[in-house]
Amino acid sequence: MNDGELTGRVRTHIADVPEPECALHGHVVAPFFNLRRAALADGFDPVPHSSFRDFARQLAIWNGKFSGQRPMFDASGSPLDASALNPDERIEAILLWSALPGASRHHWGTDIDLIDRNAAPPGYRVQLTQEEFAPAGPFAPLAEWLETNAARFGFFRPFRGVLSGVRPEPWHFSFAPVAENARRSLTPAVLHKAIAAAPLLGKEQVRLRRAWGERKRQGNGGSSCLDASSPPRPFT
Ligand SMILES: [Zn+2]
Repeated sequence: MNDGELTGRVRTHIADVPEPECALHGHVVAPFFNLRRAALADGFDPVPHSSFRDFARQLAIWNGKFSGQRPMFDASGSPLDASALNPDERIEAILLWSALPGASRHHWGTDIDLIDRNAAPPGYRVQLTQEEFAPAGPFAPLAEWLETNAARFGFFRPFRGVLSGVRPEPWHFSFAPVAENARRSLTPAVLHKAIAAAPLLGKEQVRLRRAWGERKRQGNGGSSCLDASSPPRPFT
């Protein structure tokens, strides 16, 4: 992937899939359908709730939270009042739940948030919460199936929540053969260039080196994918 693709500023690496509707890296389409076929045979209907998300979308999420127009949450999921926080505190809070624009794994098209379409009742609004994937939740059986089988198809979970500051995301899967290359290619210089010209709120306070250090500590590249307030198809 080139710098524009790594940071979601172009979509030349992306293929649009009509059913289930999603947008994936061209080299991830076949592996995803291999996984999907096996899951269908076992009674599941895994579909991406989110797939590719571009830089502009991630920027809108970031700026919405920074400005207080979108809800922002603390580590326990309680709402925060943006106007009561200084810029540094806002950035810390945003990074708990959302990636810096340019640093989301969803920019690569290698990462998907999977739910089971068979398990969602009609009209059910998916929120991507821990409860939905916990033992009593509607997506627990799929989560268990993926835990056992995803690796056979090249997919792994980058956000397992084992290190401090990383929310566990049992729905988020990544196609390792392509994503690992992207993770290695996304250097601080590439990220810096992507946000330098962007109308990013709090840009002066964004400490790229520090954000990068946190990414390195996570060992998985990119911050949380979750944005609870985003619509189901953020890439459209
Ligand atoms: Zn995700």
